[in-house]
Amino acid sequence: MEATVAMLPQESTSAPQVSAVPRVVAIPNAHIDPVWIWDWREGLREVIATFTAAADRLDQHPDLYFAASSACYYEWVEEMDPALFARIREHVAAGRWELVGGEWVEPDCNLPAGESVCRQLLYSQRYFQRAFGTTATIGYNIDSFGHAASLPQLYRKAGLRAYIMMRPGPHEKELPASLFRWEGVDGTALPTYRIKEAYQTGLHDEEPPAGGAERRLIETRAASLLSDAISEHAPAMFFVGVGDHGGGPTQVAIDAVHRIRAQTAGDVAFGSAAGYFDRISRELAAGGTLPLVRGDLHMHAVGCYTAVAWMKRENAACEAALVAAENLAAVCEMATGVRLDVQATLRSAWTRVLFNQFHDSLGGTCTEEVCDDLRQFYGYARTQADTVLTRATQLLAMRADTAIAGTATAERNQSLNPFVAHFPVPLVVFNPLSRPVRVPLELPHPATSVTVGHDEPVPVQPIASREGTRYAHHGLVVADLPAMGHRVYWLRRDADAADAGDAGRVAGPRPDPATAGQLENDDLVVAYDRSAGVVTSITSKQTGRQWLAPEGLRPVVLPDPSDTWSHFVVRYEEPEQACSLAAAEFVEAGPVRTVVRLRYVWDASTIWMDLILYAGLPELEVKLRVDWHQRHQLLKLIVPLAVDRPVIDAGVPYGTVERAADGREEVLNHWIGVREPSGAGVLCSSDVGYAYDADGGRVRLTVLRSPRYSDHGRPWTTDDPIAQPATDQG
Ligand SMILES: [Zn+2]
Repeated sequence: MEATVAMLPQESTSAPQVSAVPRVVAIPNAHIDPVWIWDWREGLREVIATFTAAADRLDQHPDLYFAASSACYYEWVEEMDPALFARIREHVAAGRWELVGGEWVEPDCNLPAGESVCRQLLYSQRYFQRAFGTTATIGYNIDSFGHAASLPQLYRKAGLRAYIMMRPGPHEKELPASLFRWEGVDGTALPTYRIKEAYQTGLHDEEPPAGGAERRLIETRAASLLSDAISEHAPAMFFVGVGDHGGGPTQVAIDAVHRIRAQTAGDVAFGSAAGYFDRISRELAAGGTLPLVRGDLHMHAVGCYTAVAWMKRENAACEAALVAAENLAAVCEMATGVRLDVQATLRSAWTRVLFNQFHDSLGGTCTEEVCDDLRQFYGYARTQADTVLTRATQLLAMRADTAIAGTATAERNQSLNPFVAHFPVPLVVFNPLSRPVRVPLELPHPATSVTVGHDEPVPVQPIASREGTRYAHHGLVVADLPAMGHRVYWLRRDADAADAGDAGRVAGPRPDPATAGQLENDDLVVAYDRSAGVVTSITSKQTGRQWLAPEGLRPVVLPDPSDTWSHFVVRYEEPEQACSLAAAEFVEAGPVRTVVRLRYVWDASTIWMDLILYAGLPELEVKLRVDWHQRHQLLKLIVPLAVDRPVIDAGVPYGTVERAADGREEVLNHWIGVREPSGAGVLCSSDVGYAYDADGGRVRLTVLRSPRYSDHGRPWTTDDPIAQPATDQG
C-alpha cells in the first residue's frame, strides 16, 4: 500500500472522488513546547507566530482544520494580539480551529498532585468557556511522558470524552491497537488513540534539506497509516504539521495531503479530532467494540521522575501552599464574615505552577537557564499563597481564645521572641487539611512547658537551635489538630526551669553511642548496625512483626550512564556501590523525639541520614540530606521489606493503582504501599521523591540523578563541571 500511494503520479490532483468517511484523518497541528531548550519569552513568540500562520492557512484552505491545546497560549494571544485572537474566535466558532486538551498546558501526567490535575482542567475549561463560549472535549497530551491510571476519571469529569497520547511508544508498551478504551482506577473509560510514529511531520536537524523531503515524509507516512487502517479495520489519525517549536501545517504539507486525498479518493483527508471521535462514538453505539487497556500508560522516560529534584520539591511545596491558602481563606470567610477576595490572587499563582508542570519543565528536561528562570514562577506562587495564608490566619487568630488566664484581654501583640515577649505566649496553630492530623511541631521559641488551652500539658522537648543569636534551643511538641481548624498552644518559660543551654541539642537520658544501636517509641523498635551503617530491623511492638529483610535499609550509589530522560531504561541495573559510614551518633533523645544521625561518604559526596521516631507516631522518618557532587550517578535508598508475595499499591493523582513488584523504575505520587495478600504491609511515603523500583519486597526509592542538563543522547564531552554542569549538584 505504501508503494501504491507514493508512486501515484503527482498530476492526478484534480477533482477528487471524496470518500464520506476517510480511513486516515489528517489532523493539522503544531506541537508547542513553551519552554525547553528555549525560554518562555521565546515560547510566547512561538505561539503568536504559529497561531498567525494557522489562521492564515485556515483562511486559504476551506477544507483545513487546526487543533491546538493549552489555554495558557490562548490567553497570551488574547493579551498580545487581539486582532489575531478575533480571527481565532471566528475559526473556533466555525468548527475548524479545534480547542483540545482542556488543560492549562500539556503537563507531565504523572508527577502533579490530583488537585493540580483538577486545576489544569478547571482553569483551562473555564477560560475556554469565557473566551470562546465552548470547552475542549478531547484530552490531548501528545508528548507527555506516560499517563497515570487515575486520569480517565478526572478528564471525564472535566468534560473530556476521549484522549490522544503518543508516549509510551510501541517499543515501550505493547497495546492491542492504536485505538482502545483506556480504563482508569475507578472504572471510567475513555476512547483513547495512540499516535503512530510522530505527532509532527517536520524534519529534524539531522535530516538532509533535500527538495521534496517533507512531501515524501508525508506520502510515506500516509501510505503506512492507510495500510494499517485497512488491516486493522479502524480509522487512523495522521498528525500533520511542524512541531516542538511550533510551526503547524506548511503549504508543502497541505499540498501533499490534498494530492494524496485525490489519489486515494478521499481515503486520506483533513479532519478534526472531535470529528474522528464522533465517528468512533457512532460505531460504538452501533455495536462496535474497542480493546480494553487498564491502568497506567507507562513507561517512557523514567529518568524524568527524578531529574532536577528541586523542581519537584518546589512543585510539591506550591501545591501544598496553594491548597492551604484556599482552604484557610474559605474557613476565614465563613468564620469571620470578612470577604478576602482571593480568587484572582490564587488563580494567578496556580497558573504559574500549572505552567511549570509542562512536561519538559516538571520532567526536568529543560536547560539549566530555563530551569533557573522557572524558579521565579515558583517564587511568585509561593509569595501569593503566603499572602493569602497570612491574611486568613491572622484574621482567624484574632478571634481565637488567647486571653491570659484570669483576664478578659486577648494577647494580640505577642511575639515568639523572648526578648520582647511576655509569658505565657499563645500560639494559634492551624490545620488546613480536611482531616485531623497529628504532626511534629517545632516552636521557634525556648518554651520549657507547653499546654493546649490553659491547662492541658503536652510533652515538650528542647531541640537544637540552628541560629546563633536568639536562643540556645527551640521547643518541640507533637500536635493534634482538628480538620480545617486550630488549637491554641500556650508556651511557658518557667522561671525555675533549667536552661538547656548548649546541652539543648540532646536532652533527657543520652544513650551511650558506643553501645546504642537501637531507638524506640511506643509503637516501633528500630535497630541499626553501627559499624555498617545499615538499619537492620523495624519491629512493630503491637504485632511483634519485624519488617526489614536481612540486608537492611541503606543508601547506595549506582552508575547511571543514561541521558536526562533515561531513554530506553526500564530498570536501573548497574552494580550497587555501598556508601562508607563516616559517623553514627545519637543527636536527640527526649520525651518527644529520638534522632540518630548516620553520616556517609561516597566519592566527593556526603549523605546524612537521620532516623527519627516521634512519641505517638507509629512511623520511622528517614530524613536524607545530600551534598552531591557526582556526574552520571544515581542515589537510591534501599528499603528491603520482609513481605510475602508483595503487591504494590502506588499513589497516583487522586487515586491508587496496583502494580507488580517487578523491578521496573516506576513513578510514585507521594507514596507506595507494599502489602502481602493478607493486607498486612508497609507504607513508604515521600514528600519530594517521585520514583522507586520494587523487586519483590526489595524496594529502592530513587533520591537523586545527575545527568547533564537536557541531554537527549548527546552526553558531555568534558569533565569540566563549569563548562558542562550536571544536574542536582550541591
Ligand atoms: Zn513537548
